[in-house]
Amino acid sequence: MRQPLVAGNWKMNGTLDSVKTLVEGIKAGLNAVQNAEVAVCPPFVYLDTVGRMIEDTPIALGGQNVAKEDPGAFTGETAAPMLTDMGCKYVIVGHSERRSLYGETDSLVAEKYARALKEGLVPILCVGELLEQREAGKTEDVVASQLDAVIEQVGIGGVGQGVIAYEPVWAIGTGKTATPEQAQEVHAFIRKRLAGHDSAVADAMRILYGGSMKGSNAEGLLGMEDIDGGLIGGASLKADEFLAICRAA
Ligand code: PEP
Repeated sequence: MRQPLVAGNWKMNGTLDSVKTLVEGIKAGLNAVQNAEVAVCPPFVYLDTVGRMIEDTPIALGGQNVAKEDPGAFTGETAAPMLTDMGCKYVIVGHSERRSLYGETDSLVAEKYARALKEGLVPILCVGELLEQREAGKTEDVVASQLDAVIEQVGIGGVGQGVIAYEPVWAIGTGKTATPEQAQEVHAFIRKRLAGHDSAVADAMRILYGGSMKGSNAEGLLGMEDIDGGLIGGASLKADEFLAICRAA
């Protein structure tokens, strides 16, 4: 039985005040969340504050990115041990914004995944196709190569220590959600591809959906067989919306 995970990706949003209010709001509604594991991924500068606020709660902390290098002369980067130091359990790697805006390639993402694992962090690997790739019938090819780069780097056992998030790029921050059936189709494809290497890993793998998920559409998506939670952007910035998704999971 895979425990659903709902992780909030706050991206580059918030102020010290708004972040504190958001965490208080999530904590206040957590009692009604029965099954799901809940995680929040604040901007790096707020990790410490948020980490302290959730210390006595089941909410897990995550980073939004990690350097592939060990600590050293890498201005502006954040090393894996620093995330551990801040109390992180999770780290997002290969988010489509990192891939498209900061040029992260499949192989760099795979190196980051490996570095996170070496640190004992649980990487959340984001995969997903652009609209033109979907329209050209290339969704499975794109997702397969993003996945294969990581399998090549850390082996199927390594992949099994992380979480996968299928995030169709055309659905991120656009308000256009994949239908439950569209999402399920790709989730099932990912699981089948993993099963080609190791069926136990495939069965246990948590595959999250991300892309304009909100309280009103969460139930349909999360009710699909191979959808094991969500990676939530915009809706994770509002405690009520985020909690509604957590309850649906
Ligand atoms: C994301 O950025 O991971 C995401 C899913 O964003 P949104 O929920 O805003 O589409």
